[in-house]
Amino acid sequence: MENHFQILIVGGGNAGISSAAKLLLKNKNLNIGIIDPSEKHYYQPAWTLVGAGVFDIKKTIKNQKNFIPEKATWIKDAVDVLDPQNNTVICTSGKKFSYDVMILCPGIQLDWDKIKGLKDTLGKNNVSSNYSLATAPYTWEMIKNFKGGRAIFTNPVSPIKCGGAPHKIMYLAVDYWRKKGILDKCDVHYLSGAGVIFAVKEYADTLTGIVKKGNIKTHFNVNVVEIDSSTHTVYYEEKNENGETVRSSMTYDFCHAVPPQSAPDFIKKSPVTDPNNAYGYVEINPKTMQHARFPNIFALGDCSNAPCSKTGAAIRKQSPVVVQNVLSFVRNEPLTAEYTGYSACPIPTQYGKLMLAEFDYTNKPTMTFPFDQTKPKRSMWILKKNVLPWLYWNKILKGTD
Ligand SMILES: Cc1cc2nc3c(=O)[nH]c(=O)nc-3n(C[C@H](O)[C@H](O)[C@H](O)COP(=O)(O)OP(=O)(O)OC[C@H]3O[C@@H](n4cnc5c(N)ncnc54)[C@H](O)[C@@H]3O)c2cc1C
Repeated sequence: MENHFQILIVGGGNAGISSAAKLLLKNKNLNIGIIDPSEKHYYQPAWTLVGAGVFDIKKTIKNQKNFIPEKATWIKDAVDVLDPQNNTVICTSGKKFSYDVMILCPGIQLDWDKIKGLKDTLGKNNVSSNYSLATAPYTWEMIKNFKGGRAIFTNPVSPIKCGGAPHKIMYLAVDYWRKKGILDKCDVHYLSGAGVIFAVKEYADTLTGIVKKGNIKTHFNVNVVEIDSSTHTVYYEEKNENGETVRSSMTYDFCHAVPPQSAPDFIKKSPVTDPNNAYGYVEINPKTMQHARFPNIFALGDCSNAPCSKTGAAIRKQSPVVVQNVLSFVRNEPLTAEYTGYSACPIPTQYGKLMLAEFDYTNKPTMTFPFDQTKPKRSMWILKKNVLPWLYWNKILKGTD
Protein backbone atom coordinates (compact mmCIF):
# COMPACT_ATOMS: atom_id res chain seq x y z
CA MET A 1 0.00 0.00 0.00
CA GLU A 2 1.62 3.26 -1.13
CA ASN A 3 0.48 5.20 1.95
CA HIS A 4 2.17 2.75 4.30
CA PHE A 5 5.81 3.07 5.38
CA GLN A 6 7.97 0.77 7.44
CA ILE A 7 9.48 3.91 8.99
CA LEU A 8 7.63 7.22 8.82
CA ILE A 9 9.62 10.32 9.78
CA VAL A 10 7.66 13.44 10.71
CA GLY A 11 9.85 16.51 10.10
CA GLY A 12 12.77 16.76 7.67
CA GLY A 13 14.94 19.21 9.58
CA ASN A 14 18.28 18.52 11.21
CA ALA A 15 17.01 15.44 13.08
CA GLY A 16 14.77 13.97 10.38
CA ILE A 17 17.18 14.14 7.44
CA SER A 18 20.26 13.02 9.37
CA SER A 19 18.36 10.05 10.87
CA ALA A 20 16.84 9.01 7.52
CA ALA A 21 20.28 9.15 5.89
CA LYS A 22 21.86 7.07 8.68
CA LEU A 23 19.08 4.47 8.57
CA LEU A 24 19.49 4.02 4.81
CA LEU A 25 23.27 3.73 5.13
CA LYS A 26 22.67 0.83 7.53
CA ASN A 27 19.99 -0.79 5.36
CA LYS A 28 19.23 0.55 1.89
CA ASN A 29 16.09 -1.59 1.60
CA LEU A 30 14.17 0.20 4.34
CA ASN A 31 10.90 1.75 3.18
CA ILE A 32 11.14 5.27 4.64
CA GLY A 33 8.72 8.18 4.22
CA ILE A 34 9.57 11.73 5.33
CA ILE A 35 6.70 14.17 5.82
CA ASP A 36 7.74 17.84 5.67
CA PRO A 37 5.98 20.74 3.96
CA SER A 38 9.05 22.96 3.59
CA GLU A 39 10.72 23.43 0.17
CA LYS A 40 13.73 24.87 1.97
CA HIS A 41 16.13 23.51 4.57
CA TYR A 42 17.68 25.99 7.02
CA TYR A 43 20.96 25.98 8.92
CA GLN A 44 19.64 27.89 11.94
CA PRO A 45 22.82 27.86 14.10
CA ALA A 46 24.38 30.45 11.76
CA TRP A 47 21.56 32.96 12.34
CA THR A 48 23.46 34.29 15.37
CA LEU A 49 26.38 35.09 13.07
CA VAL A 50 23.97 36.62 10.52
CA GLY A 51 22.69 38.90 13.28
CA ALA A 52 26.28 39.82 14.07
CA GLY A 53 27.03 40.71 10.45
CA VAL A 54 29.61 37.99 9.76
CA PHE A 55 27.58 35.34 7.88
CA ASP A 56 25.54 35.56 4.68
CA ILE A 57 21.90 34.62 5.35
CA LYS A 58 21.68 33.09 1.83
CA LYS A 59 24.23 30.47 2.87
CA THR A 60 21.84 29.24 5.59
CA ILE A 61 19.10 28.28 3.08
CA LYS A 62 19.20 25.36 0.64
CA ASN A 63 16.64 23.39 -1.33
CA GLN A 64 15.19 20.54 0.73
CA LYS A 65 15.03 18.27 -2.33
CA ASN A 66 18.83 18.11 -2.42
CA PHE A 67 18.95 16.60 1.07
CA ILE A 68 16.12 14.06 1.07
CA PRO A 69 17.99 10.74 0.77
CA GLU A 70 17.54 9.23 -2.69
CA LYS A 71 15.88 6.08 -1.40
CA ALA A 72 13.40 7.87 0.89
CA THR A 73 9.98 9.15 -0.19
CA TRP A 74 9.35 12.85 0.49
CA ILE A 75 5.73 13.67 1.28
CA LYS A 76 5.41 17.44 0.91
CA ASP A 77 2.67 17.91 3.47
CA ALA A 78 2.25 18.82 7.15
CA VAL A 79 1.00 16.41 9.79
CA ASP A 80 -2.13 17.63 11.50
CA VAL A 81 -3.35 14.63 13.50
CA LEU A 82 -1.38 11.85 15.17
CA ASP A 83 -3.34 8.65 15.82
CA PRO A 84 -0.83 6.38 17.54
CA GLN A 85 -3.45 3.82 18.57
CA ASN A 86 -4.02 3.10 14.88
CA ASN A 87 -0.44 3.76 13.70
CA THR A 88 -1.59 6.51 11.35
CA VAL A 89 -1.15 10.22 10.78
CA ILE A 90 -3.45 12.61 8.92
CA CYS A 91 -1.97 15.55 7.04
CA THR A 92 -3.44 19.01 6.50
CA SER A 93 -4.23 17.93 2.90
CA GLY A 94 -6.47 15.21 4.37
CA LYS A 95 -4.12 12.42 3.24
CA LYS A 96 -3.58 9.56 5.67
CA PHE A 97 -0.35 7.60 6.14
CA SER A 98 0.35 4.51 8.23
CA TYR A 99 3.56 3.12 9.62
CA ASP A 100 5.24 0.27 11.46
CA VAL A 101 7.57 2.68 13.28
CA MET A 102 7.29 6.46 13.49
CA ILE A 103 10.11 8.91 14.27
CA LEU A 104 8.86 12.30 15.45
CA CYS A 105 11.10 15.30 14.84
CA PRO A 106 9.03 18.33 13.75
CA GLY A 107 11.14 20.77 15.80
CA ILE A 108 9.84 23.41 18.17
CA GLN A 109 7.11 26.06 17.87
CA LEU A 110 7.95 29.75 18.23
CA ASP A 111 5.14 31.31 20.29
CA TRP A 112 5.58 34.93 19.16
CA ASP A 113 2.05 35.77 20.37
CA LYS A 114 2.98 35.02 23.97
CA ILE A 115 4.76 38.39 24.11
CA LYS A 116 2.04 40.97 23.43
CA GLY A 117 2.95 43.36 20.64
CA LEU A 118 6.12 41.52 19.57
CA LYS A 119 4.84 40.13 16.28
CA ASP A 120 3.65 43.55 15.10
CA THR A 121 6.89 45.34 15.77
CA LEU A 122 9.36 42.59 14.90
CA GLY A 123 11.82 43.59 12.20
CA LYS A 124 11.19 47.32 12.60
CA ASN A 125 11.26 50.07 15.23
CA ASN A 126 14.58 48.72 16.59
CA VAL A 127 13.12 45.36 17.62
CA SER A 128 14.62 42.23 16.12
CA SER A 129 15.17 38.51 16.71
CA ASN A 130 17.74 36.05 15.43
CA TYR A 131 15.05 33.37 15.87
CA SER A 132 13.47 34.42 12.58
CA LEU A 133 15.08 34.04 9.17
CA ALA A 134 13.27 37.22 8.11
CA THR A 135 14.67 39.40 10.88
CA ALA A 136 18.16 38.04 11.72
CA PRO A 137 19.72 40.44 9.12
CA TYR A 138 17.86 43.35 10.79
CA THR A 139 19.63 42.56 14.09
CA TRP A 140 22.89 43.47 12.35
CA GLU A 141 21.40 46.70 10.97
CA MET A 142 20.42 47.62 14.52
CA ILE A 143 23.81 46.74 16.04
CA LYS A 144 25.70 48.62 13.33
CA ASN A 145 23.54 51.75 13.53
CA PHE A 146 23.20 51.93 17.33
CA LYS A 147 24.52 55.23 18.66
CA GLY A 148 24.01 54.50 22.36
CA GLY A 149 21.06 54.37 24.72
CA ARG A 150 19.37 51.40 26.35
CA ALA A 151 19.78 47.99 24.71
CA ILE A 152 17.63 45.13 25.98
CA PHE A 153 18.18 41.44 25.23
CA THR A 154 15.41 39.06 26.31
CA ASN A 155 15.34 35.33 27.09
CA PRO A 156 12.01 33.60 27.82
CA VAL A 157 11.07 31.39 30.77
CA SER A 158 10.34 28.36 28.57
CA PRO A 159 13.02 25.99 27.31
CA ILE A 160 14.13 27.12 23.85
CA LYS A 161 16.24 25.87 21.00
CA CYS A 162 19.85 26.87 21.61
CA GLY A 163 19.59 28.28 25.12
CA GLY A 164 22.75 30.31 24.48
CA ALA A 165 21.45 32.25 21.46
CA PRO A 166 19.65 35.01 23.47
CA HIS A 167 22.95 36.05 25.10
CA LYS A 168 25.44 35.09 22.36
CA ILE A 169 24.24 38.06 20.28
CA MET A 170 24.50 40.31 23.34
CA TYR A 171 28.24 39.58 23.81
CA LEU A 172 28.89 40.27 20.12
CA ALA A 173 26.89 43.52 20.17
CA VAL A 174 28.73 44.72 23.27
CA ASP A 175 32.09 43.86 21.68
CA TYR A 176 31.12 45.75 18.51
CA TRP A 177 30.04 48.82 20.50
CA ARG A 178 33.23 48.65 22.58
CA LYS A 179 35.39 48.61 19.44
CA LYS A 180 33.32 51.46 17.98
CA GLY A 181 34.06 53.46 21.14
CA ILE A 182 30.41 53.91 22.20
CA LEU A 183 30.04 51.27 24.92
CA ASP A 184 30.15 53.89 27.68
CA LYS A 185 27.01 55.41 26.10
CA CYS A 186 25.23 52.01 26.09
CA ASP A 187 23.05 50.84 28.98
CA VAL A 188 22.83 47.09 28.32
CA HIS A 189 20.25 44.89 30.09
CA TYR A 190 19.65 41.13 29.93
CA LEU A 191 16.09 40.17 30.93
CA SER A 192 16.11 36.40 31.44
CA GLY A 193 13.54 33.83 32.52
CA ALA A 194 16.39 31.63 33.77
CA GLY A 195 17.90 31.90 37.23
CA VAL A 196 21.54 31.98 36.09
CA ILE A 197 23.53 33.06 33.05
CA PHE A 198 24.35 29.42 32.12
CA ALA A 199 23.39 26.14 33.79
CA VAL A 200 26.92 24.67 33.86
CA LYS A 201 28.99 26.45 36.51
CA GLU A 202 32.37 26.12 34.82
CA TYR A 203 31.13 27.91 31.67
CA ALA A 204 28.93 30.31 33.68
CA ASP A 205 32.05 31.59 35.48
CA THR A 206 33.59 32.68 32.17
CA LEU A 207 30.35 34.35 31.05
CA THR A 208 29.98 36.18 34.36
CA GLY A 209 33.39 37.74 33.66
CA ILE A 210 32.25 38.79 30.15
CA VAL A 211 29.02 40.27 31.57
CA LYS A 212 31.02 42.24 34.14
CA LYS A 213 33.53 43.50 31.58
CA GLY A 214 30.67 44.70 29.33
CA ASN A 215 28.89 46.37 32.26
CA ILE A 216 25.77 44.35 31.39
CA LYS A 217 22.96 44.52 33.96
CA THR A 218 21.38 41.09 34.41
CA HIS A 219 17.79 40.50 35.58
CA PHE A 220 17.11 36.82 36.27
CA ASN A 221 13.76 35.00 36.81
CA VAL A 222 11.83 37.65 34.91
CA ASN A 223 9.16 36.97 32.32
CA VAL A 224 8.92 39.41 29.41
CA VAL A 225 5.20 39.70 28.57
CA GLU A 226 4.80 42.74 26.34
CA ILE A 227 6.69 45.01 23.96
CA ASP A 228 4.94 48.30 23.22
CA SER A 229 6.60 49.87 20.19
CA SER A 230 4.59 53.09 20.44
CA THR A 231 6.27 53.94 23.75
CA HIS A 232 9.43 51.79 23.21
CA THR A 233 8.70 49.88 26.41
CA VAL A 234 9.35 46.29 27.46
CA TYR A 235 7.05 44.98 30.21
CA TYR A 236 8.11 42.06 32.39
CA GLU A 237 6.85 40.17 35.42
CA GLU A 238 8.71 38.78 38.40
CA LYS A 239 7.88 37.47 41.87
CA ASN A 240 8.42 39.73 44.86
CA GLU A 241 9.54 38.48 48.29
CA ASN A 242 5.90 37.61 49.16
CA GLY A 243 5.60 35.42 46.07
CA GLU A 244 3.28 37.88 44.35
CA THR A 245 3.71 38.59 40.64
CA VAL A 246 4.68 42.19 40.02
CA ARG A 247 4.84 43.96 36.66
CA SER A 248 7.73 46.27 35.82
CA SER A 249 8.81 48.07 32.67
CA MET A 250 11.84 49.51 30.98
CA THR A 251 12.10 51.71 27.90
CA TYR A 252 14.48 50.70 25.13
CA ASP A 253 16.33 52.12 22.17
CA PHE A 254 17.32 48.64 20.95
CA CYS A 255 15.63 45.30 21.68
CA HIS A 256 16.65 41.78 20.68
CA ALA A 257 13.70 39.56 21.65
CA VAL A 258 13.45 35.78 21.87
CA PRO A 259 9.97 34.24 21.76
CA PRO A 260 8.68 31.67 24.26
CA GLN A 261 8.70 28.20 22.69
CA SER A 262 6.78 24.94 23.03
CA ALA A 263 5.99 21.70 21.20
CA PRO A 264 4.16 22.14 17.88
CA ASP A 265 0.39 22.33 18.48
CA PHE A 266 -0.35 19.05 16.66
CA ILE A 267 1.94 17.31 19.20
CA LYS A 268 0.33 19.08 22.17
CA LYS A 269 -3.16 17.99 21.15
CA SER A 270 -2.15 14.36 20.47
CA PRO A 271 -1.73 11.33 22.76
CA VAL A 272 2.08 11.38 22.31
CA THR A 273 2.44 14.56 24.37
CA ASP A 274 3.84 14.41 27.90
CA PRO A 275 0.84 15.31 30.10
CA ASN A 276 3.17 16.48 32.85
CA ASN A 277 5.21 18.79 30.66
CA ALA A 278 3.97 22.39 30.62
CA TYR A 279 5.22 22.83 27.06
CA GLY A 280 3.70 19.64 25.66
CA TYR A 281 6.83 17.89 24.40
CA VAL A 282 6.78 14.26 23.24
CA GLU A 283 7.06 11.89 26.19
CA ILE A 284 10.09 9.68 25.63
CA ASN A 285 12.52 7.60 27.62
CA PRO A 286 15.44 10.09 27.83
CA LYS A 287 18.02 7.34 27.31
CA THR A 288 16.55 5.14 24.56
CA MET A 289 14.49 7.97 22.94
CA GLN A 290 11.58 5.51 22.63
CA HIS A 291 8.09 6.82 23.45
CA ALA A 292 7.10 6.13 27.05
CA ARG A 293 3.72 4.60 26.07
CA PHE A 294 3.84 3.81 22.33
CA PRO A 295 6.82 1.49 21.77
CA ASN A 296 6.83 1.88 17.97
CA ILE A 297 7.32 5.65 18.25
CA PHE A 298 10.66 7.40 18.79
CA ALA A 299 11.37 11.14 19.02
CA LEU A 300 14.46 13.29 18.86
CA GLY A 301 15.51 16.89 18.38
CA ASP A 302 13.73 19.97 19.71
CA CYS A 303 10.29 18.28 20.04
CA SER A 304 11.15 15.74 22.75
CA ASN A 305 10.84 16.08 26.51
CA ALA A 306 14.41 14.80 27.06
CA PRO A 307 15.79 17.23 29.68
CA CYS A 308 18.77 18.21 27.55
CA SER A 309 19.67 21.47 25.89
CA LYS A 310 17.84 21.65 22.53
CA THR A 311 20.57 21.95 19.90
CA GLY A 312 21.80 20.46 16.66
CA ALA A 313 24.82 19.28 18.63
CA ALA A 314 22.49 17.21 20.85
CA ILE A 315 20.86 15.72 17.73
CA ARG A 316 24.28 14.62 16.49
CA LYS A 317 24.43 12.28 19.51
CA GLN A 318 20.70 11.42 19.63
CA SER A 319 20.39 10.37 16.00
CA PRO A 320 22.75 7.32 16.17
CA VAL A 321 20.88 6.18 19.32
CA VAL A 322 17.47 6.46 17.62
CA VAL A 323 18.77 4.74 14.48
CA GLN A 324 20.25 1.80 16.40
CA ASN A 325 17.18 1.41 18.63
CA VAL A 326 14.71 1.67 15.73
CA LEU A 327 16.61 -1.07 13.88
CA SER A 328 16.65 -3.22 17.04
CA PHE A 329 12.92 -2.63 17.49
CA VAL A 330 12.22 -3.68 13.89
CA ARG A 331 14.22 -6.90 14.49
CA ASN A 332 12.37 -7.48 17.76
CA GLU A 333 15.61 -7.18 19.75
CA PRO A 334 16.19 -5.28 23.03
CA LEU A 335 17.07 -1.58 22.75
CA THR A 336 20.67 -1.16 23.86
CA ALA A 337 21.73 2.29 22.63
CA GLU A 338 21.55 5.11 25.19
CA TYR A 339 21.76 8.91 24.91
CA THR A 340 23.71 10.61 27.73
CA GLY A 341 22.13 14.05 27.36
CA TYR A 342 25.17 15.45 25.55
CA SER A 343 24.70 18.91 24.12
CA ALA A 344 26.99 21.72 23.06
CA CYS A 345 26.58 25.47 22.95
CA PRO A 346 29.20 27.43 21.00
CA ILE A 347 29.19 30.86 22.68
CA PRO A 348 31.01 33.69 20.93
CA THR A 349 32.28 35.97 23.67
CA GLN A 350 33.61 38.59 21.25
CA TYR A 351 34.27 38.83 17.48
CA GLY A 352 36.92 36.19 16.72
CA LYS A 353 36.68 34.25 20.01
CA LEU A 354 34.32 31.54 21.18
CA MET A 355 33.80 29.25 24.17
CA LEU A 356 32.60 25.79 23.17
CA ALA A 357 30.45 24.67 26.12
CA GLU A 358 29.84 20.91 26.05
CA PHE A 359 27.93 19.08 28.80
CA ASP A 360 25.47 16.26 29.52
CA TYR A 361 22.27 15.52 31.51
CA THR A 362 24.16 16.05 34.78
CA ASN A 363 25.36 19.51 33.69
CA LYS A 364 28.97 18.35 33.93
CA PRO A 365 31.40 19.62 31.29
CA THR A 366 32.20 16.91 28.70
CA MET A 367 35.01 18.52 26.72
CA THR A 368 36.05 17.10 23.34
CA PHE A 369 39.27 19.05 22.84
CA PRO A 370 42.54 18.59 24.77
CA PHE A 371 42.45 22.11 26.24
CA ASP A 372 40.38 24.00 28.81
CA GLN A 373 37.21 24.81 26.87
CA THR A 374 36.04 27.33 29.46
CA LYS A 375 38.59 29.68 27.86
CA PRO A 376 37.29 31.39 24.70
CA LYS A 377 39.52 30.61 21.70
CA ARG A 378 40.01 31.78 18.12
CA SER A 379 40.11 28.16 16.90
CA MET A 380 36.59 27.57 18.30
CA TRP A 381 35.32 30.70 16.50
CA ILE A 382 36.65 29.25 13.23
CA LEU A 383 35.00 25.93 14.09
CA LYS A 384 31.62 27.66 14.46
CA LYS A 385 31.92 30.03 11.51
CA ASN A 386 33.60 27.81 8.92
CA VAL A 387 33.83 24.16 9.94
CA LEU A 388 30.40 23.40 11.45
CA PRO A 389 28.32 24.84 8.55
CA TRP A 390 30.36 22.74 6.09
CA LEU A 391 30.02 19.68 8.31
CA TYR A 392 26.25 20.19 8.50
CA TRP A 393 25.55 20.37 4.76
CA ASN A 394 28.15 17.83 3.67
CA LYS A 395 28.33 15.22 6.43
CA ILE A 396 25.61 15.50 9.09
CA LEU A 397 22.70 15.64 6.63
CA LYS A 398 24.27 12.79 4.64
CA GLY A 399 24.50 10.63 7.78
CA THR A 400 28.27 10.31 7.46
CA ASP A 401 29.59 12.57 10.23
C1 LIG B 1 19.19 31.57 16.45
C2 LIG B 1 19.52 30.10 16.63
C3 LIG B 1 20.80 29.73 16.97
C4 LIG B 1 21.11 28.39 17.15
N1 LIG B 1 22.41 28.06 17.44
C5 LIG B 1 22.75 26.75 17.54
C6 LIG B 1 24.12 26.39 17.73
O1 LIG B 1 25.01 27.24 17.79
N2 LIG B 1 24.42 25.07 17.83
C7 LIG B 1 23.46 24.11 17.73
O2 LIG B 1 23.79 22.92 17.80
N3 LIG B 1 22.15 24.43 17.56
C8 LIG B 1 21.77 25.72 17.45
N4 LIG B 1 20.47 26.05 17.21
C9 LIG B 1 19.42 25.03 17.38
C10 LIG B 1 19.24 24.09 16.18
O3 LIG B 1 19.03 24.83 15.00
C11 LIG B 1 18.02 23.20 16.46
O4 LIG B 1 18.20 22.57 17.71
C12 LIG B 1 17.84 22.14 15.39
O5 LIG B 1 17.62 22.72 14.13
C13 LIG B 1 16.67 21.23 15.74
O6 LIG B 1 16.48 20.26 14.77
P1 LIG B 1 15.06 19.56 14.59
O7 LIG B 1 15.24 18.60 13.46
O8 LIG B 1 14.54 19.10 15.88
O9 LIG B 1 14.11 20.77 14.11
P2 LIG B 1 14.27 21.67 12.81
O10 LIG B 1 15.65 21.60 12.27
O11 LIG B 1 13.72 22.99 13.18
O12 LIG B 1 13.32 20.95 11.75
C14 LIG B 1 11.96 20.72 11.97
C15 LIG B 1 11.34 20.32 10.63
O13 LIG B 1 9.99 19.86 10.87
C16 LIG B 1 9.16 20.37 9.87
N5 LIG B 1 7.79 20.43 10.39
C17 LIG B 1 7.27 21.32 11.26
N6 LIG B 1 5.97 21.06 11.48
C18 LIG B 1 5.67 19.95 10.76
C19 LIG B 1 4.48 19.19 10.57
N7 LIG B 1 3.33 19.51 11.15
N8 LIG B 1 4.54 18.10 9.76
C20 LIG B 1 5.70 17.75 9.14
N9 LIG B 1 6.84 18.47 9.28
C21 LIG B 1 6.83 19.53 10.07
C22 LIG B 1 9.75 21.75 9.54
O14 LIG B 1 9.36 22.19 8.24
C23 LIG B 1 11.24 21.49 9.65
O15 LIG B 1 11.81 21.12 8.40
C24 LIG B 1 20.11 27.38 16.99
C25 LIG B 1 18.82 27.77 16.63
C26 LIG B 1 18.52 29.11 16.43
C27 LIG B 1 17.12 29.49 16.01
